[in-house]
Amino acid sequence: MDYDVIVPQRFLKPLRQAAFDGAKEGGAWALFSSARVTRDPVTTKPRHRYILRQIQPFTATDIVSSSSKHITVKTDTFMPILRQSQSEGFAPGFLHGHPSGYPTFSKQDDMNEMALSQATRNRNGSEAKFVSLLVLPDDTLKARVWHKDGASQAAPVSITGSQLRIMDRHPLIADRGSDLDRQARVFGELFNEQIQALRVLIVGAGGTGSPLAVMLARAGLRCPVILDPDIVEDTNLHRLHGARLCDVGRPKAEVVADHINGMGLGTSAIGLQGNILDASHRDLLVSADLIFCCTDDHAGRLLLNRFAYFYETSVVDIGLAVERGGSGIRDMTGRVTTLYPGAACLLCRNIVDPARARAEELRRRDPEAFRQQVDDGYILGGGDPEPAFISMTTSVATMAMEEMLQLMTGFRSTGGTVTQRLRRFQVPEDRRTGAKIDPDCPVCGESEFWGIGDITPFLDRVA
Ligand SMILES: [Zn+2]
Ligand SMILES: [Zn+2]
Repeated sequence: MDYDVIVPQRFLKPLRQAAFDGAKEGGAWALFSSARVTRDPVTTKPRHRYILRQIQPFTATDIVSSSSKHITVKTDTFMPILRQSQSEGFAPGFLHGHPSGYPTFSKQDDMNEMALSQATRNRNGSEAKFVSLLVLPDDTLKARVWHKDGASQAAPVSITGSQLRIMDRHPLIADRGSDLDRQARVFGELFNEQIQALRVLIVGAGGTGSPLAVMLARAGLRCPVILDPDIVEDTNLHRLHGARLCDVGRPKAEVVADHINGMGLGTSAIGLQGNILDASHRDLLVSADLIFCCTDDHAGRLLLNRFAYFYETSVVDIGLAVERGGSGIRDMTGRVTTLYPGAACLLCRNIVDPARARAEELRRRDPEAFRQQVDDGYILGGGDPEPAFISMTTSVATMAMEEMLQLMTGFRSTGGTVTQRLRRFQVPEDRRTGAKIDPDCPVCGESEFWGIGDITPFLDRVA
């Protein structure tokens, strides 16, 4: 079993405040939700991901003693956390800081945490896990999961949200060598390390998904996972990167993955034919650090929209709309929207239409009933194929990749993180747009569901 931990970016400040009491060590109790991967598409192993949900800083009376080198807390203050974690289905945890910068868990930490993990199993059962988090002054985070008697396992940490940073992750495939030197000269060696350890899911391998996948692989992404239900048609060849005439009839995702793997860069792309709405693809979602939504359907978008908030995993959503008027192009707009808790969702931005999503779901599940509803005039039929042109679809893919760069490097100066950017190709300048979070929005307005992780039914609301 592999473990990893997600710390949403908005927790960094409260973590820092709890972990350092001036020059003394400070700490907090924590609760983590669960996101389970049955079979990771890349490692093929099961993985248990913990998402930081809540922290409860120690009060002065919780602390027995503390110094710049240790913190000891009263164990009985842990009991309410154990009770809450069991009743709400979370894993209990403990976090503390090393103001000295000492970079690993100390012997004293081992002893304290072993006792806490023992208390967890005694009260919540022999399968109960305990998560510990170490905070260093430079915001480096270390985590481990105490999973059985006296045994812990290191868990890589990722920071998600308006930032994307992964820590202590071993690359799955040997690093690329000097061929990435030129981009290190732009973004630094750290960026090269990060992108080579990053796990990305690309949903949709069409006009936007195919150039994006190819660019990501060239830039160092080692194991992109690409999912698309469709096969290559000759009408796709004018904009599909990596597809040849002889690929007509083959699944798009496979064609793009084969193209990438054929570049000879040691990349191990995985191309799967399938629909993200199928429950069988949940492992692809939960195992990703970042998801690009390159589909043009509303049902898939709606699912990914919810996923970003429930699982604290950022989704970069891409769209291109071309509107023709009587005499020519009326509007041609590329859009990139980044979704994470704290940003307005696609529903609040009126980008996704729940009625169309329901119609698409029906077409997928019950084509007969769908046709009947179209005939009866209850829903609109398919209509003509959308107009598209390769330079514009590729341009929107480039915009999406730049949003990823912003999350990873913050390369745009102050105010560089915008959650939506529009490129109107018929006007000379890009535009960014604001959007308000509707406090009643079932997705982005309800913080109680942010980072809730696995619930049954999947991504459904708890009454
Ligand atoms: Zn310590
Ligand atoms: Zn919303």
